[in-house]
Amino acid sequence: MTQVFKFGGASIQNAAAIRQLGELLARFRSRPLVVVVSAMGKTTNALEALLAAAREGDTENYRERLERLRRDHLAVVEALFGDQAGPVTSQVEALITELDRRHQRHAGQARPFHYDQTVCFGELLSTTIVSAWFEAAGMATQWCDARELVITDDGHQAANVDWQATAERVDELATEDGRILVTQGFIGGTADGSATTTLGREGSDFSAAIFAYCLDAETVTIWKDVPGLFNADPRRVSNAQQLERISYQEAVELAWHGAKVIHPKTLGPLQRKAIPLKVRSFENLEAPPSVIGRDTRFDSQLPSLVLREEQTLLEIHPRDFAFMDETRQHDILGRLAAAGLHAGLIDSGAMRLSLCLDGHPERLEPLVDALCQEYAVTRHDALTLVTVRHADEALLAALSAGRDSLAERRNADTAQRLFPAAQCRGTWHLPT
Ligand code: ADP
Ligand code: ASP
Ligand code: MG
Repeated sequence: MTQVFKFGGASIQNAAAIRQLGELLARFRSRPLVVVVSAMGKTTNALEALLAAAREGDTENYRERLERLRRDHLAVVEALFGDQAGPVTSQVEALITELDRRHQRHAGQARPFHYDQTVCFGELLSTTIVSAWFEAAGMATQWCDARELVITDDGHQAANVDWQATAERVDELATEDGRILVTQGFIGGTADGSATTTLGREGSDFSAAIFAYCLDAETVTIWKDVPGLFNADPRRVSNAQQLERISYQEAVELAWHGAKVIHPKTLGPLQRKAIPLKVRSFENLEAPPSVIGRDTRFDSQLPSLVLREEQTLLEIHPRDFAFMDETRQHDILGRLAAAGLHAGLIDSGAMRLSLCLDGHPERLEPLVDALCQEYAVTRHDALTLVTVRHADEALLAALSAGRDSLAERRNADTAQRLFPAAQCRGTWHLPT
């Protein structure tokens, strides 16, 4: 049965990392194998900055950024292939030329469409280099174009997958011929092939799940710079512990509340076909992975903590002492959805709706302006949303000590509090 491996930006950030990946595959590959790869390092951020420069009309900045992208990728090719670099260098040069050409062609179009036609090149470049390296390392490899496999609608920057069309395309992949199939995470295409689409930032985990679902894969392994899924971000919380086995539902809750280790959309397709998801380290190959599956028995053994940074709280009140009734709530939440904003905490009162939102200025500002036309809106910026699962009173009290909560929500297994970011900086410790 097919295995799906996913490698994120950190695992291919330079030539040494790509070399290590070759060794990892030589050791752990099974057949058939589909490898889903993100853009190298922080390339997607670099492409977003390039796009922003161009759309602001700063041609010089755009040219500089394009040249840096070209140089950085060519340096990796040079370091990997040395005097055999010729063919891959030509492929990278061709992709950079194509990026420039597409970008110019679509410059007059709406930003989300333009974004997808430009930012997809991060994954096109990385997979070109990585698949050539696997081949050079003696592993027969085939590069596959996810734009022709992952079929989506035209919801640019957050495209919805057409599962039937995707299953039909993926079914045609020659998974059985022994070659490693290398494809791009994050990107897809419309059915008529006229446009590239993207699945949302950090969407490569979801891509791996899409391939696994369509191939009825045995497992998906997401190789990370941490040994697995922890009960808190191990980079923020000094005593975070690895969750060795947890359920799809529990993992979805953590991801939805902002645990950045897995894209929340990843779990649904895997749950539907009971495909286990392993999260394991590409740095420490001996470390046991976290396994996410059907078993719910271990979900509440440890409390878990998620910190969501750069939050904004909007407190929205109807004018003239009117109720915040269902019609008004529907109106406000509809506007939120239309703006593509996520509310990590929603709380309401007779004359109030409180929303805690990710601070995307370009989406938030127009929403706030529009709401202010009809409602009285109070706004607090620079907040951190703290979500705790399976916590008792003592733990909640200890986490809140010395912090001023601006909003709260609580149900049987989840408690959320919103604190000023200034009170949440630095390393945390989960009280035991
Ligand atoms: P990728 O490049 O594969 O997409 P990410 O950077 O998105 O990898 O995810 C890995 C990072 O997720 C880790 O470096 C870690 O700091 C962070 N992280 C946040 N929450 C958790 C958690 N609960 N468990 C493990 N890692 C977490
Ligand atoms: N390269 C994309 C991003 O940085 C997708 C991913 O890495 O998952 O958002
Ligand atoms: Mg990620």
